[in-house]
Amino acid sequence: MNPSTSNTNRGHGFRWMRNLIGAGGVGVGLVLAVPVGHLVRTIWRDAPPGGFAVPEGHVDDISRLNLTPVSEVWRIPEDGVEAEAQLRDLLARARSNGKRVSIAGARHSMGGHTIAPDGIVVDMRPFRSIRIDPDRKLLTVGAGAYWTDVLRRADAVDLSVGVMQSDSAFSVGGSLSVNCHGWQFGTPPIASTVESFRLMRADGTVVRCSRTENPELFSLALGGYGLFGILLDAEIRLVPNVRLRLVQEQVPTAASGPILDRLAGEPRPALVYARLKLTPGDRFGTVRASAYFPDTNGPIPVLEEPVPSTLDRAIFRGSAGSDLGKSLRWFAETRIQPLLLPEVVSRNRLLIETPDWYLNRHTNATDILHEYFLPRSVALRFLGEADRILTRHGGDLLNTTVRDVAEDRDTVLLYAREPVIAFVMFFNQERSPQGEVAMQAMTRELVEAALSLGGCYYLPYRLHATPEQFHRAYPQARRFFERKRVHDPGELFQNRFYQTYGRPEP
Ligand SMILES: Cc1cc2nc3c(=O)[nH]c(=O)nc-3n(C[C@H](O)[C@H](O)[C@H](O)COP(=O)(O)OP(=O)(O)OC[C@H]3O[C@@H](n4cnc5c(N)ncnc54)[C@H](O)[C@@H]3O)c2cc1C
Repeated sequence: MNPSTSNTNRGHGFRWMRNLIGAGGVGVGLVLAVPVGHLVRTIWRDAPPGGFAVPEGHVDDISRLNLTPVSEVWRIPEDGVEAEAQLRDLLARARSNGKRVSIAGARHSMGGHTIAPDGIVVDMRPFRSIRIDPDRKLLTVGAGAYWTDVLRRADAVDLSVGVMQSDSAFSVGGSLSVNCHGWQFGTPPIASTVESFRLMRADGTVVRCSRTENPELFSLALGGYGLFGILLDAEIRLVPNVRLRLVQEQVPTAASGPILDRLAGEPRPALVYARLKLTPGDRFGTVRASAYFPDTNGPIPVLEEPVPSTLDRAIFRGSAGSDLGKSLRWFAETRIQPLLLPEVVSRNRLLIETPDWYLNRHTNATDILHEYFLPRSVALRFLGEADRILTRHGGDLLNTTVRDVAEDRDTVLLYAREPVIAFVMFFNQERSPQGEVAMQAMTRELVEAALSLGGCYYLPYRLHATPEQFHRAYPQARRFFERKRVHDPGELFQNRFYQTYGRPEP
């Protein structure tokens, strides 16, 4: 073989390969240009954090749709003894001035549940003492403390929170007052973990409530939306912090029943979140379940708190109002994220999380949560209905997670009357009267779909359900509100939720 020929031939070969790689590179570049451009545009257009000022004399909540004038916002003093004395005086002053009192934690409820127009708002956040008895696995916590702080303290003694939301930026008092639930698989709402709490009533007296002491108030104030008094502190059972191993599965949603059956068997996962595909043409068609199983083959990883990532935010926010963004997010979560997620984590690491990285920061739009609880046998039918409703209304759905919640045996205003599948839906909404009208119409249809299948909806969000729908969803509500007026005859504790659904019918 002539070496030069050979070289020349090899030279031709290289040029051919270079051209191919070049063309491939251009192709890949072109394919990547669209999503990369979309993400860059999303980052470029994003608003900086903390851009909403609430004018003096007003309050709002996380929905940014409830700006309301109030007569006073009262920040409870940090010293517990002093705080209680001053709080008693405040209630006496409110009673004699005919003022209503509403109670606020982190204000992540969305329907003015922390607001009574022209009333006094009690800001509970400074009331945040935390004590843990590791031997009894018992937390004694001020109602204004956030789960983030509780988790940090619990982690130091190898304990964790038994039931809480999927983020930790909520106050304990607010969480108990909505009777929250989380992605703790097959677990009842948080009331099931409460041993007792102290409640300051409308007349300023403080009572301890448990399953044996003042049991009626125990079951009314948990999930009671601040209508029975001020929760001062609570005793809550903790669970061990454990090392968990991730197992992910993706199937057509219609075929997800066997996965649920398997998860409900042994070994049982501690935490499970499942996310539904939301891409155009296949909304709700596929589900990806992430299950965390206890793993004893090694030490519990040290708690490292999450660091917000610009890329994660761009991928999430880029799905608002964009079919491309929705497809991109599903691709990132199903193809890229599994390669990056640690296989082993601690329970506390999964629970310590802030919603700040994904929440809407624009002034002209906001994010609104909905949640529907369905008996398992009709959960798929609800999704079919919901899909049709969303298509009709053009609802911009950014996220849907699926949870498994066990029956609630502790509260009066309960949403988990039996084991239920919860669909948590996160919408992007225009912040305008038209946006409100559109969201209300869509919400009422979604609520109706849930009710017609024997389901129910969650109460801490927008007050869009009609009173008639509300009472169908919560047939026990009439008794709940009657008992409110027995325990608080002057109707001192009020908020928009009460004023919408709870006032006596004429
Ligand atoms: C991004 C996001 C994610 C969420 N995820 C979940 C989830 O995974 N699971 C879930 O169940 N819910 C979830 N929620 C709803 C959330 O649990 C409730 O909105 C909860 O109330 C938030 O706690 P908070 O401290 O913000 O309460 P707030 O909104 O401040 O208060 C809620 C209610 O509790 C009353 N209240 C507050 N403190 C006291 C007190 N000390 N005494 C008496 N009454 C009091 C208030 O008057 C009000 O009626 C989520 C909400 C958002 C915005």
